[in-house]
Amino acid sequence: MKIVLKFIPCILLIVVFIMACSSDNEAENLENSNPSAFTVTVSSITESSAVLNWTSSNDVDGDEVTYTVTLNGIEIVSNISSLLLSLTDLELDTLYSGSITANDGNGGSASANFDFTTLAEAPTLHPAYADFDVDYTDIYLDGSNVIIETIGEPNHLTPYYSTSHPLYTPPTVTNVAQMTPTRIDTANRDYNATLTVSTNPQMANSTSATQLGSIGIAVSGAFIYNDQEGNGPLDSAAGSLDYAGAHIGPSNYHYHLEPLAFTNDDQNLVGIISDGFFIYGRKCNSTGTYPTDLDASGGHTSTTQHADDAEYHYHIINEVYGSLGRYLVFAGPYQGTPNAIN
Ligand SMILES: [Zn+2]
Ligand SMILES: [Zn+2]
Repeated sequence: MKIVLKFIPCILLIVVFIMACSSDNEAENLENSNPSAFTVTVSSITESSAVLNWTSSNDVDGDEVTYTVTLNGIEIVSNISSLLLSLTDLELDTLYSGSITANDGNGGSASANFDFTTLAEAPTLHPAYADFDVDYTDIYLDGSNVIIETIGEPNHLTPYYSTSHPLYTPPTVTNVAQMTPTRIDTANRDYNATLTVSTNPQMANSTSATQLGSIGIAVSGAFIYNDQEGNGPLDSAAGSLDYAGAHIGPSNYHYHLEPLAFTNDDQNLVGIISDGFFIYGRKCNSTGTYPTDLDASGGHTSTTQHADDAEYHYHIINEVYGSLGRYLVFAGPYQGTPNAIN
């Protein structure tokens, strides 16, 4: 009992202290309440802009509430009464975070955070695709890919059309006896083919050899093949190639040699190789002459008539092939990752 009595003053002191504290809090709360919680939404996000919207923060004391917006640690507007703010001049593909603080003008506040990432640059169709014949090819974007559809026939004169075809021309560098027997328009074959490549093709970690069959699509609508015919070197079939460096095999009409129908010792676009890189004639627009820095595939990185920023592309290598006095279109290896043409 004695012990309990001894403690009573202490207990009383503590109780008084607690009461004093709580009455202080009550007094403060009565003086001013914080504005209410609110939420932010981010909408209309583009590569360079976004719109912030937030719900109203209310103040029970009737104080006027204003808002201050901070973006990536920087206060960008202060004490606005609007519930909407457009953000512009943002960097593309960038994470932004920030907060909105509601102030009641009397020291009370509430805040809400937000974050968002601006869009990456929308893929666009490379200007070089404009050089493809729109009557023979259909080229369009599919997300970050390009779809290249072709009817698979050449848009130019060749002895490989039948004599009644408007694009027939008699053979010059070859002759009927040496030509393969099939004619493009009377073979009753379906030459349609599709190639899908990236809008932003990348070099592969290692190169890969080209294969028999189509390895690219030319601006004319016909196909690009490598330096092999069947399982042997091209030389054995050279007599059947027309002036355009092409003939028809078991599948389609295709170029093995510099296609003189649309590129002849110049910088014209030849077509696209199945790894997504363009191939140009023997000269380069960046210098106006034969490039001297080509890799084993005939590729290098420079500007072109289609690109102000240097980019990787192939050329027809300016070295006479075999005994033909002509130039191979593309023997490989692929520097990128090839996709199927079918
Ligand atoms: Zn062939
Ligand atoms: Zn070049």
